[in-house]
Amino acid sequence: MLTVKVTMISKKDIASVTPAVSDYAQNLDNLCERLLRQQPHSKALLEGLLARSRRTSRPCAFAPVQSNRCSACNMAVASAQIQKVKSGEFINCAHCSIFLYHERR
Ligand SMILES: [Zn+2]
Repeated sequence: MLTVKVTMISKKDIASVTPAVSDYAQNLDNLCERLLRQQPHSKALLEGLLARSRRTSRPCAFAPVQSNRCSACNMAVASAQIQKVKSGEFINCAHCSIFLYHERR
């Protein structure tokens, strides 16, 4: 059985970075969990991005795809990748390497 604990993320850490991020922190927890359940091998990359988030004081580990673009760096995402994202997979932006996901509305 595969159980991946996301221990490196504490809500306090995130809250100290940006105010009013409780939604984001909640969302981030969910995203990390989903990502690691789906792609356990992405853990090292995720940790790197989270470390970068803390350094730069802004969230840069996950971003939703918006209008077929990475909403973090605004670069277009390849259509093959878009298909993956829409089917629920996480992909990495080819430009800023952030984890991209499909935002369900
Ligand atoms: Zn990007």
